[in-house]
Amino acid sequence: MTGPPALAFVPALCLSTYWFGGEGALLICAIAIPIAYLCLGGFYGTTNQLLLAREGVTGLLQTNAFNDLATQVLQKTSEFGWKSAVFLFEIEDFAELQDRFGKSAADQVQTEISERLIAALRDKDSVGKIDDVTFGVCLDPVRHLDLELCIQMAARLQRVSEEPISIDGTVIYASVSVGFCQHTRSPAPSGEGWLAAAATALKEATRHGPSGIRAFTDRMVTPTADFAALIDEVASALENGQIMPWFQPQISTETGQISGFEALARWSHPTRGTLLPSDFLPALEQADLLERLADVMMFHAFSAVQSWDDAGLHVPQIGVNFAGSELSNPLLIKKICWELDRFDLTPARLAIEVLETVVASAPDDMITRNINALGELGCRIDLDDFGTGHASITSIRRFGVNRIKIDRSFVIKADRDPEQQRMISAILTMAERLGVETLAEGVETVGEHVILAQLGCDHVQGYGIAHPMPADQTVDWIKSHNAKLRDVPRIMSGKA
Ligand code: C2E
Ligand code: CA
Ligand code: CA
Repeated sequence: MTGPPALAFVPALCLSTYWFGGEGALLICAIAIPIAYLCLGGFYGTTNQLLLAREGVTGLLQTNAFNDLATQVLQKTSEFGWKSAVFLFEIEDFAELQDRFGKSAADQVQTEISERLIAALRDKDSVGKIDDVTFGVCLDPVRHLDLELCIQMAARLQRVSEEPISIDGTVIYASVSVGFCQHTRSPAPSGEGWLAAAATALKEATRHGPSGIRAFTDRMVTPTADFAALIDEVASALENGQIMPWFQPQISTETGQISGFEALARWSHPTRGTLLPSDFLPALEQADLLERLADVMMFHAFSAVQSWDDAGLHVPQIGVNFAGSELSNPLLIKKICWELDRFDLTPARLAIEVLETVVASAPDDMITRNINALGELGCRIDLDDFGTGHASITSIRRFGVNRIKIDRSFVIKADRDPEQQRMISAILTMAERLGVETLAEGVETVGEHVILAQLGCDHVQGYGIAHPMPADQTVDWIKSHNAKLRDVPRIMSGKA
């Protein structure tokens, strides 16, 4: 025993030395104890563990201390040939969580998650606070640690962090993404380089989230490494057809029939695989190309509708996302009319998806005029991400909204959480009174689908029904869905 507990025996040792050997023996004892303690390595842990700055009583290392610890661990692994890994855990959508439940509840979520991480690890592993939403875990070196073990560990710690958190009678479900880097994969022999690699993996994980887990590999490049180059690249990608819509179905809860598809932008990158809007929308926006994106999306969306019509498959409408900047284009209505004409489609086949935040932010005259004109033309107006943007009831009326798309944050675990059910019911009641339809976004499980149908939500969309798919897979998907509809018993809607 060389750690601090050994010090408990010092008074008894000194007293008995004095009794049996007198003052001389006591003096020798006083000199010998610290020397013996030093030789046995008792001070080793002190420099490594105790002198590092920790937050309050939580035992959480502060950022700089965590960096230092990572450097020390890296040295220790190379000295003894042992293994370690650094994990980063990010609480997703933390700003939304703060908006919805308040700052104090959000702070409690942070504390609870950090305590759970500490409790789930061995004493010698370290947990640090990287920023408000990110915690780091650095494993004390061990003999055996391979990728498989790291993945299992990431999944176990993620599970622990995502357990429901009860605060003042409200149950909060936080989703947590994990990025990690084994010390053997660290691109630089410093704690900083090692943590940066874990941060790159975390970024990948959050992009593929919610609840993503990614290990750092050499092939991961920091996406924002050269934003200027990305802007050039994305501009030509848009022109040469690498950026195209993928399609995600929406279905009626009452009949199970397909009620529409949403067109979602995807970049088939020649070397990096399929990229999501979060990877390239900022670059397109910077390059002032969002309007061009809308043209491309609309063209291919209408082509898809035409191909479904040609195949004799009934898909009532296609949803296309429009950013605020596109909606302020004075020529928008003319352009949409022209495109609809070109494909010989009625305006009702197009649903314009407008973010609730755009409608709620007292948009300029042009946006208001355009949305109203599109409604008058007969296009459908879908209010996207409803519940995140504080749109007033007046604005829902003023903009002639046909349908609200209930944000995924209300849908998560709706089958198991009465609080979620109460929120959804309140939204559905409001929608019913206003005479607008409802669609729940991000429906992932059968349980969520069933409860939404029972509560009376009109439509559902989400991975539980299908992931977004390229245009050439849609016809087969529609056919097999329609075939299944004939065999599977219906989920009954709660509506009379
Ligand atoms: P959004 O309009 O809210 O689109 C829904 C997002 O949720 C899509 O992400 C979709 O892939 C994802 N999603 C669908 N089902 C599920 C589910 O069950 N679980 C989870 N976790 N997610 C689900 P995506 O494709 O990454 O698009 C992200 C956002 O990018 C969209 O959010 C939209 O705001 C924007 N976006 C996409 N395409 C376009 C576009 O052509 N123009 C503009 N201006 N924005 C676009
Ligand atoms: Ca949308
Ligand atoms: Ca949405």
